[in-house]
Amino acid sequence: MGAASRKDGCLATKALLIYPEMPPTYWSMRYALPFLGCQAALPPLGLLTVAALLPADWELKLIDLNVEAVSPAEIAAADLVLISAMLVQRESFERVVAMCRTSGTPLVAGGPYPTSCHEQIEGVDHFVLGEAEVNLPPFLEDYRRGQAKRCYRDPSRPDITRTPPPRFDLVDRTRYAGAALQYSRGCPHHCEFCDIVELFGHTPRTKAPEQILDEMELLYRGGWRGSLFVVDDNFIGNRRQVRKLLPEVARWQAERGFPFTLYTEASLDLAADEALMDALVAAGFNMVFVGIETPDQATLEAVGKRQNTRMDLLDSVRAIQAKGLEVAAGFIVGFDGDRADIFDRQIRFINEAAIPTAMVGLLTALPGTRLHTRLAAEGRLLSASAGGNNTHDLDLNFTPRMDAGQLRTGYKRVLAEVYRPRRYFARCLGLILRMKPHQASVRRIRLIELRAFFYSLFRQTFSRYSLVYWSYLLRALSRRPFMAAEIVTMAVKGHHFFTITQNLLALEQFKERLGRSRQDLEARLRQALAGNAQSLAAWQRCRERLVAKARLRSTRFNPDFKVGATRAFEEFRALVEGLSHGLAFKKLETTDEH
Ligand code: SF4
Repeated sequence: MGAASRKDGCLATKALLIYPEMPPTYWSMRYALPFLGCQAALPPLGLLTVAALLPADWELKLIDLNVEAVSPAEIAAADLVLISAMLVQRESFERVVAMCRTSGTPLVAGGPYPTSCHEQIEGVDHFVLGEAEVNLPPFLEDYRRGQAKRCYRDPSRPDITRTPPPRFDLVDRTRYAGAALQYSRGCPHHCEFCDIVELFGHTPRTKAPEQILDEMELLYRGGWRGSLFVVDDNFIGNRRQVRKLLPEVARWQAERGFPFTLYTEASLDLAADEALMDALVAAGFNMVFVGIETPDQATLEAVGKRQNTRMDLLDSVRAIQAKGLEVAAGFIVGFDGDRADIFDRQIRFINEAAIPTAMVGLLTALPGTRLHTRLAAEGRLLSASAGGNNTHDLDLNFTPRMDAGQLRTGYKRVLAEVYRPRRYFARCLGLILRMKPHQASVRRIRLIELRAFFYSLFRQTFSRYSLVYWSYLLRALSRRPFMAAEIVTMAVKGHHFFTITQNLLALEQFKERLGRSRQDLEARLRQALAGNAQSLAAWQRCRERLVAKARLRSTRFNPDFKVGATRAFEEFRALVEGLSHGLAFKKLETTDEH
């Protein structure tokens, strides 16, 4: 397909850029968004950057499926559909592929999921893998000549000082809780389980300070205010450059009265760099996400996370918090070194460190990582990739050292404990009291924050955790009234975490119950077969009763989890129907014998 395929003969290609839907995850903040009156946490920065790299005369439209739907007519009207996705968006990605196949519109796919798994993806016309700055131009050139190839994969790392600013104008800012921009790509560390180094390299590449200020100015002029995520793999990967950037950002922010509250991702060794933490705070950063992974030092060594072993972990977290930066952190269970006590140790660490936002995941062997290679060599890989979503299925894509059942049970216990409202609010209060107030706290409350506050008062007062919510609110506000925005933000995020944990655990409980019902039915069937026709009829009635009950239960799930519940129910029904067929066969055998 190429330029010749343009449907209406006009010169400019009509390109439709589609960002697939994110399933509800701990990251998505889906259940916190109504408090802010928004539909998604962040705009699709990758696609907005791709849009900026497309020819100026192309007619562009961007549809983020997290905030609006796409119709078959919109796909059919486009000359070309471009899609970018992460592994976690696979299901929605596949639905878009199917729509393109139905309409016959050529589809170009890129982003982390196609880059890692394109060999397993069907229905895509062209893959533009790796980084768009090097792979999109040759595709565009071939497309213009009507000779586009199936796959473009130049692994070289582009100089991102030449990357144009993202086309923020293509999205409606009112639909998003915050803005996003990117300063650097790549990470100097090499953790065994992480695909960042494979995707973006070992040497962090940064944009120039003027580029970042230009992007901030674009956002500012476009009316964006408030939360701004600097979407870097490791913001402090190139400290020399970051030290040059931060004073510039601080100056720009001060001149405009600090319109943005920034947050980013960085490695934990930030804690040893006082000056850098001060510079972050001065620039208006109030949160940093760090990968702690595990409190077990031997495991950190074994997985190559040595940057976390140089200082005591708790001391590191506290040093960052004391500067006025909230620490959000990632944790993983399922490492080879994990023993039975790892679950309690993770829970204890998260609570002691006062980390409200603790993203706990089951270890996944991501394609292209050192972990993936090692497990494949050890014959422990079960599938090339997992779904990348620990909130809808707890499938492991490798054989863990610990018993898989024990690992899943332990993981669920960590989630249940960490997101027990009493524990969560205790961590929030601990953090609020520990954090030094700074620039971003001492400012006028924004309208969106006021809305969130009133919505929170209404919604969380009439919740199952109302008492602990009020106790937290009163204690935190009375002791740190100037941190009202942070206090309410944490309460609102808590609602998301509690909701997703409750639904995830309910779905898992439902699946376990179905498993037990199946085993029970099998045992009863064996007994019935040894008995008479009446016991077989009683077994049939029992089976029908259990299937009806399971069907009813599967319809009572939160809409976001209903698909998973329905899938589990259908599998259960197929299995017990299989038992019935076995029974009919057995009956036949019995009749023949008579
Ligand atoms: S520090 Fe973070 S981004 Fe860097 S390799 Fe390790 S996990 Fe990946």
